[in-house]
Amino acid sequence: MNKLTKQTCLLAGLALSMLFSCDKKNEVVLEYAQSEQASTQEIDCKYVDGNWSSTAVLSTTIGTTAETNFMNTQNSKIAAVWGRPAVTLRFVKDPSNPSSTFNAISYSSKKIYYGEAIYNAAKAKSANNIVNAMILAHEFGHQLQFTYGLPSVRESTARPNELEADGYAGYYLRKPTGWGATAFSEIAAAYDFAASIGDYATTNPGHHGTPPQRRSAVRLGFLLGQYSLTATSFDSNFFYYYQGVLNGTYRQAKPEGFSEEIDAYIRQHADELRRIASGEMSDEEYYNLK
Ligand SMILES: [Zn+2]
Repeated sequence: MNKLTKQTCLLAGLALSMLFSCDKKNEVVLEYAQSEQASTQEIDCKYVDGNWSSTAVLSTTIGTTAETNFMNTQNSKIAAVWGRPAVTLRFVKDPSNPSSTFNAISYSSKKIYYGEAIYNAAKAKSANNIVNAMILAHEFGHQLQFTYGLPSVRESTARPNELEADGYAGYYLRKPTGWGATAFSEIAAAYDFAASIGDYATTNPGHHGTPPQRRSAVRLGFLLGQYSLTATSFDSNFFYYYQGVLNGTYRQAKPEGFSEEIDAYIRQHADELRRIASGEMSDEEYYNLK
């Protein structure tokens, strides 16, 4: 719905209950926050919005000029890989409570807010900043879901949304016009930053998939990156193999836009995906996958 409604919202979690005027309704996808409730309001006030601390502020820069340029370039390249215009990318900083910005949020209003704390933690993982590119590609995956009404599979938790976003990121990291990894080993260790914040809270609405399932999802996305897929055909293919991501089994009903060639290729990797999802595959083998 595009209708703008003036409304008043009460923000829980603040020391003092404060009233803010809200001018837009939004769906948001919270990534790494542990416990807070996702507010469905975007609030146009002096602070960012109810998903961030009351002292957080928005910024168009992160780190050095080169780092800001890197993130903006990645933002454009990710969108271009999917044939989409770039979305608004802003950074969230909170000098008085820096750790409160350990999060990245995709909003249905075509914007991504990216916290300084998660940026810094991700940057520390690798010299080439691939982990931040990966997180951004995952966030853009949620933008594709907003745009196309995906994922086509829904569950009582966020798991299919989150695992598909991991898959979209794996696809981007392989694309020559995207990140351009030529072997999975170039991205596997970086992706463990995401897998490590997978969780076993399988009935929590915010469940992102278990760490082995996240590993398996990004591997499947990377394999699908061998082919040129639209966001919706990626979705069809991803969920055709979804049981393989979850537990190593495969369903037989063929998806729309089904390709025998893709199927033959993915099935060559079926046992490998099963062993990733079950946790049987060693870190060493996973990090060295081609
Ligand atoms: Zn996500």
